[in-house]
Amino acid sequence: MTAIVDQVREGRGTRSRQGKLLSIVIPMHDEEPVLDVLFGRLDAVAAGFGLSIELVCVDDGSRDATLARLRERARTDSRVKVIALTRNFGKEAALTAGLEAATGDVVAPLDADLQDPPELIGEFLDLWEQGYDVVYGVRADRSSDTPAKRLTANLFYRVFNTVSDHAIPASTGDFRLMDREVVEALKRLPERNRFMKGLFAWVGFRQVGVPYTRPERAAGTSSWRYLRLMRFAIDGITSFTTVPLRIWTGIGLAAAAAAMLYALFLILQVLLYGRDVPGYASLMVVVLLGFAVQMVALGFLGEYVGRLYEEVKQRPLYLVRETIGFGAGDAP
Ligand code: UDP
Ligand code: MG
Repeated sequence: MTAIVDQVREGRGTRSRQGKLLSIVIPMHDEEPVLDVLFGRLDAVAAGFGLSIELVCVDDGSRDATLARLRERARTDSRVKVIALTRNFGKEAALTAGLEAATGDVVAPLDADLQDPPELIGEFLDLWEQGYDVVYGVRADRSSDTPAKRLTANLFYRVFNTVSDHAIPASTGDFRLMDREVVEALKRLPERNRFMKGLFAWVGFRQVGVPYTRPERAAGTSSWRYLRLMRFAIDGITSFTTVPLRIWTGIGLAAAAAAMLYALFLILQVLLYGRDVPGYASLMVVVLLGFAVQMVALGFLGEYVGRLYEEVKQRPLYLVRETIGFGAGDAP
């Protein structure tokens, strides 16, 4: 609450949603089964928000009829804008495409499967009016996730926040409301590797969390597989810290110190007790350990070099095949 008082004192606490536009950005990959429920819920809550709305739907290379259904919807619903990507670029790229296309004064990314309850956006808007630039949802209860997913997620936040300079609040997703200023700041971040949670934290501004219970998927299945989540976690860590590269300096120095002590011990042993030939086992251990450490270090290096390569190529983050509802130049 002190933050709110600060805002008022600085004279920024008097935003009003009147006459403003809210963009809800929805990345979609194979979400056909959920579209009816989604639009039904949005229709039910949107009227209560008290400002105009645009729905920026990004079709991230769906293989089902998601795009066809969106096209139908856009014909009768002028709030719906559609960006169809040329293939599946992944949620982070789809979200970036949506954020770049959104024109609202406030912008809220939303999962298509209703795991982010749209009703909460009303509460987000209240806090935005009080002066917060970013209002993010915090999953108070992850009981809809499997224990394994919860455990790995906790581990990830623990590791990430230990090694990264920019802590991300645990159990936050992309679900949030952002002021236009924040969206413009995000658009200035040019990296290919878009770990959105990290980018959201990096831009700063006045942020506040709102706890909510994350429900199960309304329909359909999650597109995330474990391997993909793991790659996602590595992407997140490597794009926000170089600690994994630098720790090897420490490990190397420690190994060198240990080796020196051991050498000293050997010298003393020879001086005191005479020459000692057997030593094959200790030699093997040292050689194998040293070799393994170097391999791991090389692997870490490779993770970064690979990502450097991705960045240097400067390929676009996504390609658009078709846009609908954005006015002139739309495909029919
Ligand atoms: N999504 C996407 N591209 C992908 C994977 C997912 O646009 O390659 C969208 C998906 O349609 C949904 C949101 O990202 O709107 C979250 O995906 P999902 O529900 O599968 O993830 P989870 O809730 O399991 O983290
Ligand atoms: Mg989901």
